[in-house]
Amino acid sequence: MNVVPQNAVSVDPVKLEKLGEVAVKVGLRLQKGQDLLITAPMAALPLVRFITKHAYRAGAGLVTTFYSDEQSTLERYREADEASFDRAADWLYQGMAKAFEGGTARLAIAGDNPMLLSEQDPARVARAARANSAAYKPALEKISNFDINWNIVSFPNPSWAKLVFPNDPEAIAVAKLSKAIFAASRVDQDDPIAAWTDHNANLARRAGWLNDQRFAALHFTGPGTDLRVGLADDHEWHGGASTAKNGITCNPNIPTEEVFTTPHALRVEGHVSSTKPLSHQGTLIDDIRVRFEGGRIVEATASRGAEVLAKLLDTDEGARRLGEVAMVPHSSPISASGILFYNTLFDENASCHIALGQCYSKCFLDGANLSQDQIKAQGGNSSLIHVDWMIGSDKVDIDGVKEDGARVPVMRAGEWA
Ligand code: ZN
Ligand code: ZN
Repeated sequence: MNVVPQNAVSVDPVKLEKLGEVAVKVGLRLQKGQDLLITAPMAALPLVRFITKHAYRAGAGLVTTFYSDEQSTLERYREADEASFDRAADWLYQGMAKAFEGGTARLAIAGDNPMLLSEQDPARVARAARANSAAYKPALEKISNFDINWNIVSFPNPSWAKLVFPNDPEAIAVAKLSKAIFAASRVDQDDPIAAWTDHNANLARRAGWLNDQRFAALHFTGPGTDLRVGLADDHEWHGGASTAKNGITCNPNIPTEEVFTTPHALRVEGHVSSTKPLSHQGTLIDDIRVRFEGGRIVEATASRGAEVLAKLLDTDEGARRLGEVAMVPHSSPISASGILFYNTLFDENASCHIALGQCYSKCFLDGANLSQDQIKAQGGNSSLIHVDWMIGSDKVDIDGVKEDGARVPVMRAGEWA
């Protein structure tokens, strides 16, 4: 199969190699002798090769890549027996969990067409996703508990590029998307590694200010939104680089513009409207409106994709509660690009957001040493899902609310106050 040469022409190989280098040196901070597990779409082969090159140059022990292919994914929906949709490759995920337990670093390349499954039966898509989440859980926990250094970067797959730029021929669409990915990932700058050092320092300053404030809650107000998000007891804000339990300081998401923490699973009240569509497993969910009572979503509507949203909320008990709240200024470079990427990694960095489902244990003071029960007692949510959706815009204000009720402006019209 020949998937590489045509689209590779539209992607600047020099910047692509810089992206590979940034993924290894900034994203993973891969250590000498450390093994690396990569998952990637077939089309991202040129980027996998650069990452592999820089990983071995950094002293990687062994680099192993698993590829996925959009066409093969669709064949399952066309041809597979009905029972197939309750299956997942448990053995593979068990192997991944074992690798992470042994200290292997994890790199995921995103880039598949986010609408790939949009024509498929939503019930089947949900069943397959549920089976996959359940099988993946032991491995995912190593990531969500931040046991190891991990990183996600993106490659401009032609199918994704055509979704983002539908009116352009494929080569132009890929060129435009690659340019946007390179800019957001700071590899269009002369010294990308130094640019990331600066950026990490800025994000750490914001997170430090929020930690000093010790807010009990955040209050979001804007069109269709009046939401009080209680924060977990002894929550901690993070942003940019952070240190995994294996002691390695890495940048899990490239790009990243957010500072984020853990809401209290039982203390969210009011209603909120999404400000950008959410692309979830092949379906676009638009104009989400939900109402919370006691931290739980009790009403949810969407103008589009409502059925998928309902199924998502029914995944498990924790799927109706929040696991993350994040601040991103409206003027962030990704927001300023005006592009809807249909990809959470980018779109969540264009706007303040909340996430349904699993919390990050690192977003607690001394989180590395807390048991699952302690995290729960402090308000941390647990679920098979973690789905971010955008609630910020230039029309949204945010106040921090202290324990005694005192209010401090945090954002006005989408910018840091
Ligand atoms: Zn986030
Ligand atoms: Zn998130």
